[in-house]
Amino acid sequence: MTADKSRTWHPDTALVHGGTLRSPFGETSEAMFLTQGYVYESAEEAEARFLNLSPGYQYSRFSNPTVTMFEERMAMMEGAEVARATATGMAAVTAAMLSQLSAGDHVVAAKALFGSCRYVVEDLCPRFGIQSTLVDGRDLDAWKKAVQPNTKAFFLESPTNPTLEVVDIAAVADIAHEAGARLVVDNVFATPIWQKPLQLGADVVVYSATKHIDGQGRCLGGVVLCDKEFLDKYLQVFIRQTGPSLSPFNAWVLLKGLETLSLRVERQTSTAEQIAAALRDHPAVGRVIYPGSPDHPQADICAKQMIRGSTMVAFEVKGGKEAAFRTANGLKIVKISNNLGDAKSLVTHPSTTTHQRLSEDARLELGISPGLLRLSVGLEYPGDLIGDLTTALNGAGSARLAAE
Ligand SMILES: *Cc1c(COP(=O)(O)O)cnc(C)c1O
Repeated sequence: MTADKSRTWHPDTALVHGGTLRSPFGETSEAMFLTQGYVYESAEEAEARFLNLSPGYQYSRFSNPTVTMFEERMAMMEGAEVARATATGMAAVTAAMLSQLSAGDHVVAAKALFGSCRYVVEDLCPRFGIQSTLVDGRDLDAWKKAVQPNTKAFFLESPTNPTLEVVDIAAVADIAHEAGARLVVDNVFATPIWQKPLQLGADVVVYSATKHIDGQGRCLGGVVLCDKEFLDKYLQVFIRQTGPSLSPFNAWVLLKGLETLSLRVERQTSTAEQIAAALRDHPAVGRVIYPGSPDHPQADICAKQMIRGSTMVAFEVKGGKEAAFRTANGLKIVKISNNLGDAKSLVTHPSTTTHQRLSEDARLELGISPGLLRLSVGLEYPGDLIGDLTTALNGAGSARLAAE
């Protein structure tokens, strides 16, 4: 079998054809290889495969043709040398960090992280003798000051969850490299369509493929993108021996998701722009944070490192938790969920769900106020979504005024 591998294609073409392996049947659509193992022509062939002298598959914990297609397509789109798929986004983050770190090493990470990413850096790593320092990701001096002689990795997310703050990836990459450390970027909120961390100087990029890459709320998945050296030295053996592998069924779903990724993200971003503008004009809304708009606190960095904004909008409802709950409960089309990147628009109240684990002080330090809502914009008709939000906010606002 030969793979479609031209590296001169535009990412949109790679999303449709990249990495396709065709069996002797010549199928148009990618085949799903639901197999655990592989049979060998002879004992000699089995020996050669295990010595890596003969190409081919051995066991689906290490590799599988459907998973390979997904990895190759992701690498082509991202402009990475290689990719390795994992069962979830968190498996990708854990593998990207633990595969390269040992007891005695030190990690610096931005404080504003997806809850479970923060657990990996703040709680899990120290249990195994890997010290960590959390910094305000926007403060370049704080990154510099946190560096120690044993600092091996930097970790950040931009835009951040849920407040959509932006970290200057190129500047942080420079500080990491100066310190002899690698920069790992969780690029979920930007999506692979709007931000290319490897081009900005990151060494490793991770995704929860559960989000926009599937994009239709079906499968969990993750992926780590890096160079061949990182793969050979750290990642390959870690995945092979510890087993966070992606199922071929999920790899197939995600591959088909990639075919429409750029169309979906473009549409969701255009709608998010319109929603951000409509929310800004609504009297019940105190603050709107949208990375694509000129009033974003780091609009200059957004313009420098992102092609367009995001499919996510964060906004603060006046009147705190009660008003935020009334707004969420008043929505008919937008569903209440902690997930994101779906075709269905989803709203989250971070302070009582995804960020409940943090102390009140830690939440406020991150800007996660009781009135904050995070909206993941889906594929619905933009006017319907704006109508749904406006109606819900009108209800929240009148109830608030009545109570005052
Ligand atoms: C969802 C998410 C993860 C974790 O991904 P799972 O697939 O749920 O394990 C990590 N980082 C960010 C930014 C996410 O949004």
